[in-house]
Amino acid sequence: MKATCALVLVVSLGIAELRGQEAPPAVRAMDAGAVEACNHGRVSSTSFRALVESFDPEHVVVHVETGVVRIFGTAGATRLVGTAGHWRYVRITVDPDLPLDERTAVIAHELQHAREIADAAAVTQNQVRQLFERIGRPVQGAVDTYETAGAITAGMRVWRELRATAARTRAMARALKTVPEPPIAVVRVQ
Ligand SMILES: [Zn+2]
Repeated sequence: MKATCALVLVVSLGIAELRGQEAPPAVRAMDAGAVEACNHGRVSSTSFRALVESFDPEHVVVHVETGVVRIFGTAGATRLVGTAGHWRYVRITVDPDLPLDERTAVIAHELQHAREIADAAAVTQNQVRQLFERIGRPVQGAVDTYETAGAITAGMRVWRELRATAARTRAMARALKTVPEPPIAVVRVQ
């Protein structure tokens, strides 16, 4: 009897825990380098945080990973990799060797491309190509590769916010260093 009650309790707890869980986020960092940059962006840049939160997890899943981009001179890339029902799966790849602030700004740039794909409701590669032919310009020397002014602006905005946060942190550290040390009470025993 005790065993049965215990089992019921465990199942009930399990359901309660599932009900309490939040839906998985739309933007998912897939490896340590991506996690580090996405966390840095969320904490240090309001524009990065707003971009991440702009995606509806019911319609778009954006996987962010570090890896070789394979487009000469390019630090990041965004691809529509699949659709299932009303979901679209977008993959962002960013160069793992970039310093943290740059990696974070490049992810913001690529998130803006994901935003552009999501806003246009493009679900096939051909629709994505038509979209970027309309709103962007082809990248010289690369096949099926485009750039948009919106993504450049988004990346630069996040870059400036990250630099401003770093400057504030350095100023705070300097200010703390100039605060005089509290006097140390010395007790002398004679
Ligand atoms: Zn771009």
